[in-house]
Amino acid sequence: MSNLPSEPEFEQAYKELASTLENSTLFQQHPEYRKALKIASIPERVIQFRVVWEDDKGELQVNRGYRVQFNSALGPYKGGLRFHPSVNLSILKFLGFEQIFKNALTGLNMGGGKGGADFDPKGKSDNEIRKFCVGFMTELSRHIGADTDVPAGDIGVSPREIGFMFGQYKKIRNQWEGVLTGKGLSWGGSLIRPEATGFGLVYYVQHMIQHASKGSETFAGKRVVISGSGNVAQYAALKVIELGGTVVSLSDSQGSLITESPEGFTPAEIEGIAALKVARKQLSSIFSADADAHNNTLFSQSKFKYIPNVRPWLHVGKVDVALPCATQNEISSEEAQGLIDAGVKYVAEGSNMGSTQGAIDIFEAHRESNKNNSIWYAPGKAANLGGVAVSGLEMAQNSARLNWTREEVDRKLQDIMKSSFENGLETAKRFVSEGEEVLPSLVAGSNIAGFMKVAAAMKDQGDWW
Ligand code: GLU
Repeated sequence: MSNLPSEPEFEQAYKELASTLENSTLFQQHPEYRKALKIASIPERVIQFRVVWEDDKGELQVNRGYRVQFNSALGPYKGGLRFHPSVNLSILKFLGFEQIFKNALTGLNMGGGKGGADFDPKGKSDNEIRKFCVGFMTELSRHIGADTDVPAGDIGVSPREIGFMFGQYKKIRNQWEGVLTGKGLSWGGSLIRPEATGFGLVYYVQHMIQHASKGSETFAGKRVVISGSGNVAQYAALKVIELGGTVVSLSDSQGSLITESPEGFTPAEIEGIAALKVARKQLSSIFSADADAHNNTLFSQSKFKYIPNVRPWLHVGKVDVALPCATQNEISSEEAQGLIDAGVKYVAEGSNMGSTQGAIDIFEAHRESNKNNSIWYAPGKAANLGGVAVSGLEMAQNSARLNWTREEVDRKLQDIMKSSFENGLETAKRFVSEGEEVLPSLVAGSNIAGFMKVAAAMKDQGDWW
């Protein structure tokens, strides 16, 4: 690897997967799978391009655009687009690599890919965002298609951006097709797609709680610390509240909003934050002089405190469940230890690679030691796959030219989250021998299950032999 450029995020994602395969009995039983891992860790194709656009002052702007088409063994490349100034090839390769195995765990026919640009939507007008999306899709359109590669949203790409990009694809190709998911409901989108990642995450954790407590506990009465305040965090929070849990925090890149009130956040407060985020405002603006009248009355200073420049983990007192829903590497080793000291029993990632390797090692060591208050960790590729799963259901509806009901999609999402959980659990029991009394490793089990499915398909298709 030494003559390759340093790709810290991708190397982290690769090592996390590879180490769980190494520490299992998989390679003893199937030594040939080492070759498969070597092949699967190189993208089938990487596309890089420039996007030139004009800002509201009439000045020229330029950004870097990318699409990593990582693996197409199980279906068309599938995965979101991220618009964020931090975007580079290392980040998109890590996201694309995770996406391969996540998509495999959905049980649907989707390969893995990821793309995006180092464009910062913050502080941009709608006009500027539209112009950027048109420029970005003008180039991307030649590389994607409903049976080739189907992008969707990720950080910085909401249904508004999907709409602008879909319109441009349609103009260039003169073709209406399901080339993007996360579309508007009146033009090919699926019900439950906006809610799917957050709802799916909470459905997954319900299974963790039920299994670990042998059916004696639910979300009712649990204190839940959530980071982030975008689409994933909002719908995770709403579902936790619906199931009787108490949401004690949300956050953004500038700081954390925390409540010590026993009722936690209410649905109305979560909706107030959703409205604030559509207006591309920071949580800090809630208590600032320019806050709009609605949010001024909605959030009282006696109920909430805003702490700048921190993530919520170490600032919420006793907790039962932690749901990182912001971005990668948002739980450090120190924060992992702090969460354990605060009593956390369940950690499940709504974000991709939400925990650092150090944090995962701490959670896993604690699980293996089987102490009374054993903690159970679930990685993003198993716990947050509800989003891409409903994207897969959106593709199916587009192909059939049909729309399913809310109940139908929600039921399928619940079934998919259940099988993701059971697949991780059963695969860990099969390939990681730790004794009956320890909770199985969901990170090892999910990695092995996703990898085996992809590796076997690649072999059938002659990608390795
Ligand atoms: N960006 C989401 C993820 O990380 C969804 C991708 C999709 O729907 O294609 O899984």
